[in-house]
Formats: sequence, structure tokens, C-alpha cells
Amino acid sequence: MTGTAVQSRAAETELDEAASCPACGAQGLTIFHEQQGIPVHSCRLVATREEAEAFPRGTLRLALCHACAFITNTAYEPSLQSYFVSYEETQGFSPRFREFMDELAQRWIDRYELQGKDVLEIGCGKGEFLVAMCERGAARGTGIDPAIVLERVSGPAASRIAFIQDLYDEKYAHLTGDAVVCRHTLEHIHPVAEFLRTIRRSLEQRADTVVLFELPDVLRVLRECAFWDIYYEHCSYFTPGSLARLFRATGFDILALELDYDDQYILVEARPGSGRTQAPALEEQPEEIAHAVEAFGRELAAVQSRWRAELAQVRQNGGRAVVWGSGSKGVSFLTTLGITDEIGYVVDINPYKQGKFMAGTGHEIVAPGFLREYRPDLVVAMNPIYREDIQRDLDALGLDARLEAV
Ligand SMILES: [Zn+2]
Repeated sequence: MTGTAVQSRAAETELDEAASCPACGAQGLTIFHEQQGIPVHSCRLVATREEAEAFPRGTLRLALCHACAFITNTAYEPSLQSYFVSYEETQGFSPRFREFMDELAQRWIDRYELQGKDVLEIGCGKGEFLVAMCERGAARGTGIDPAIVLERVSGPAASRIAFIQDLYDEKYAHLTGDAVVCRHTLEHIHPVAEFLRTIRRSLEQRADTVVLFELPDVLRVLRECAFWDIYYEHCSYFTPGSLARLFRATGFDILALELDYDDQYILVEARPGSGRTQAPALEEQPEEIAHAVEAFGRELAAVQSRWRAELAQVRQNGGRAVVWGSGSKGVSFLTTLGITDEIGYVVDINPYKQGKFMAGTGHEIVAPGFLREYRPDLVVAMNPIYREDIQRDLDALGLDARLEAV
């Protein structure tokens, strides 16, 4: 395993006068965090260690817009990425995530009376959420995603769903529905205002359509110094406030703005309108984000040092450590810290990922059952919300490894 050439810098900030905000158009963004040499994808299925270590890399240069508090990667190059090839983003194998997804599908069906109605999902991934909505009463679904795999869509509702394997853009503006759903997608899109305006234009004659978005809250990431939640695939970072401001600016009236999933995700629910509605209670002001960005810059190095020291300690004592969770957080955690053999393996419950390798560091992904032989001393969970699920799996395997969550 080779070391990674990741360099990060977070202490000083610098104004990029030429850059303009992709959300509100304001000129001049403050760069506050930079990392070079990070894998441009973190959910690709990589078949060999060599391929994983040679994975294409890019630069992350996070900048804050002081006008609207949107955060963007100013070094992002979309040409480095493709979502069409063996992309495994689903969290549907996790019981905890599955439960949340089903509950959210039911909530939106009930709240917006979508029984017998049509749902369009932009960025539907493997289609699980659209299936969940159709199973709970939606009449028909249309899903668009470059990474859709039709053989994996099953269940009695699957026949009422049409899938389009593509990225959403203007040419799909004729597709509408009684609800337009977009989950964990907007953060992968660089021209965010343009994307929302395309959706808004498609709804010119559909004032009754409800628009339902879900995406990560970067305010939590900043406050918790959660550097593993920052990676190349996410070129756009929202807080509840910057998301609400973007929705209003692009002609949506906000119906609800909430946090969910242990406050990790923002849910925004809106309708096409004038955009002149009142600010929701959760909408914080840009100054608050500026303070959180400053605190992140001050504390990041210490948080990273603590993790490096802890993993080094396990190895010095002749112990073994594994990471649990091979998704984007895992890739970011390993590459950002420059981890090599301090971590032996990465565990994942998704069978499609087992036997594959982590982009960047080349760690092999194994099934939980592998640990019965390997007997790790430390298991690092990539999301605290899965702690109970993981502990149950470790108990079932008869392991007494110390479990720590990021
Ligand atoms: Zn802005």
C-alpha cells in the first residue's frame, strides 16, 4: 500500500476576487480550506488495488460566499468525473438508513397527499426511494440517474416506474409530476442556481407540484470538524439558511425546512411561487456560517492529529484497526489522514462492495464475517448513527473490539 500525497491547509483564508457564487452570483469568495490529491470519486467500484491507488485525483478548494453563505469547491472540474460507470452510492443495505428512507417516503406521501399521484425523482440512484414511494401509494414514478441498474429494481411497484439512465438537464424539462424529489444530488452539482432554475422552468404550468429535496447540512460538518464529510464528489455545501435563500432566489416558496437523521440532513419542501415568502425558523444568517468556518479552520489540524495518533497507537501496541463503512466518508477519512497500514481493511455490509478496493489508499473492502478471523482491536465507524447496528454485528461475530465512531 502506498501513502497518499494529500496536503491540507485550513489555517489562513484568502479572497478570490474573480470567483462568483454559483448560488447567488455575488462576486468574491473567501477560500478557507484546501486539499490536494484527493480521489475524484469515492463510490466507484474499483476492482484492483493498483487501480485504486492510481485513481484520478483532484483538488478541493472550499470557498465561502459572504452574501448567501453557500460553500463551493472553486477547484472543481466536472470533466474529471463520470457517474455512468459502476457507481455504488446506495446506503439501502443499512437497516437504520432503510428505516429512515421508508419513514420519509411515507411522511411525504401523507403530508402532500401523493396517493394516486405521479412522482419524478432526479438523481434516483438505485431507485429504492422511488420504489418506496410507489409502494406507499404513489401511482407512477419516473427516475433519472446515470447509475441506475435496472436488474436491481424489484418489488411489486417496480412495474409502475420508468427509469432514464442519464443526468438531468434542460432536455428533460418536459418531465414533471405532482412531486419532484431530489435526494443527495444537489451537493454533487456545481451550478446549483442553474439546476434549480431548470426545475423551476419545468414547473411553469405546474404551480401545484411539490418539490422535495434532501441533502447534507454543512453547518454540522463545520461545527464537528467532520473532515470525512468533505470530498471531491461534493462540490456544493449547504446550510439550512443558504439552501432556503437559493430556493427563494430561484422562484420557490418554502413550505418546510427541517433537519433529520440525527440532524445530518436538511429537508426542504417547496412549491413554485414568487420566492417572496418569509424566512423559515431554521434559516440562520450568513454571519453565523462565517464564524463556523473560522472555528473549523482553527480546530481542523488538532482533530486530524488526534485520529492519526490514535491509529498509530493501536499499531505500536501490535493491534489491528479497521474502518467500518466504505462509502465517501471512509475514502475521505483515509485519504485526508494519509492512512496506510494503520488500517488493515475496510468493512462494508453492501455485498456489491466486498472484494473491491478503496479509491486512493487501496484498502480492501471485506464483509463483516471476515473479522471473525481477523479479530480487530479497534473498529472505526464512519457514521455514529450506525453505531448500534455495528455493535450488534460485532456481538454476533463474537468480537470484543473497541468500537469508536467519527
Ligand atoms: Zn452566494
